[in-house]
Amino acid sequence: MATRSTIMDTNSFRRGATDELPESIRRLAARRERVLGPSYRLFYREPVHLVRGEGAHLYDADGQRYLDVYNNVASVGHCHPRVVAAVQRQAAALNTHTRYLHEAIVDYSEDLLSTLPDAIDQVMFLCTGSEANDLAIRVAQAYTGGTGVLVTSEAYHGNTALTSELSPALGTAQPLGRDVRTVPSPDAYRLGLGGGDVDLGLWFADQVAAQIADLERHGTRFAAFLADSIFSSDGVFPDPLGFLAPAIEVVHRAGGVFVADEVQPGFARTGQAFWGFERHGVVPDLVTMGKPMGNGIPISALAARSEVLAAFGDSIPYFNTFGGNPVSIAAAQAVLDVIRDEELQAHSARLGAQLSAGLRAASAGHPLVGDIRGAGLYVGVDIVTDPVSRRPDQATALEIVERLRERHVLTSVCGAGGNVLKLRPPLAFSPADLDVFLTAYEEVLATLPT
Ligand code: PMP
Repeated sequence: MATRSTIMDTNSFRRGATDELPESIRRLAARRERVLGPSYRLFYREPVHLVRGEGAHLYDADGQRYLDVYNNVASVGHCHPRVVAAVQRQAAALNTHTRYLHEAIVDYSEDLLSTLPDAIDQVMFLCTGSEANDLAIRVAQAYTGGTGVLVTSEAYHGNTALTSELSPALGTAQPLGRDVRTVPSPDAYRLGLGGGDVDLGLWFADQVAAQIADLERHGTRFAAFLADSIFSSDGVFPDPLGFLAPAIEVVHRAGGVFVADEVQPGFARTGQAFWGFERHGVVPDLVTMGKPMGNGIPISALAARSEVLAAFGDSIPYFNTFGGNPVSIAAAQAVLDVIRDEELQAHSARLGAQLSAGLRAASAGHPLVGDIRGAGLYVGVDIVTDPVSRRPDQATALEIVERLRERHVLTSVCGAGGNVLKLRPPLAFSPADLDVFLTAYEEVLATLPT
């Protein structure tokens, strides 16, 4: 069977293409492959061997500095001293699990829930975004009595058996679940093509309604719509504000629950709001979060309306050995404190607007740059063969990523065509970092044919 490759393979070091690499990189890559096996990927034609990080900068084994425009996990900055100190303090005092009383997990839960709508009043802790989505789906199925789940056509929601079946981004070699349906990405840029005024919100709601109807036609009761509220894997689709609202109305009318996957847009990333779903004026039934939550320490969460959680929690016990342990909670609390004390949401709004404006200015008149869209410090640059067909140009997008890497600027790609530059620096990104990035971007564009 022919399988479509995954965008996860696109910005990858090619196995075997090692001859031209520095000896130390070649040897480490070969040793790594020997022991880690074939599933792992390395970024870039010449992989980067990192040994240290600080703020929005990473350093390789030769002391070369890189500007990180990609990693949203170390969101408040690589090795932020307050997070490091909190982890060190707690690791030296106690690290157990959630079967004993501990104050910090209760304090943090209250604090985290205060950032969410009042209706979301309980939270459970896990280690990864995949686990949070996995549990969310089990909860949604218990609450609704249904099994059918909708996701977008290029979504990624995780690596467990259940969430892999909800992740079309993994490529066609990974089967989707029988009770899973996909709705097309809300690609406002391409949907506008020749169609006059497409109201994205109504169009998207119609797509959701059609897939719910298809599930029901096959005798499958609808349980949940699971969506990343910035549609990062689909290609970054943040706008127009509020476009998700009509689809969520459809979901609720059909008796399903909306699971907002906040692994990407959560924790102030979009600048306009602390959570991505807030930009759409909707209140989810379940919210999953991870990546930036512990600034690199594994911690994730499922926040929920208590009445939705009850259907699962009242009958099935749940224990996660590492989820919510005191060291992870200490990291997560420090992250929340730093976001507030350093006003990183406002910073993301301000600097993100400058990033988008700077990209627009640098790309003006360049026909390969079809669209620039973003919210705060989460920006996608859609690279196309030409502005009329708007056909994704993955080869050029990858060339830009490689040429930026040669200039020690780290980025990658996303989207169905693997052609959207994914710009998502730590929120610790500074105005000086922005200048460095825009200069490199302009230089790289100038090397491409117009
Ligand atoms: N949801 C989304 C939207 C993600 O981007 C990811 C990770 N890329 C996940 C879930 C899974 O998170 P994790 O890798 O922590 O399991």
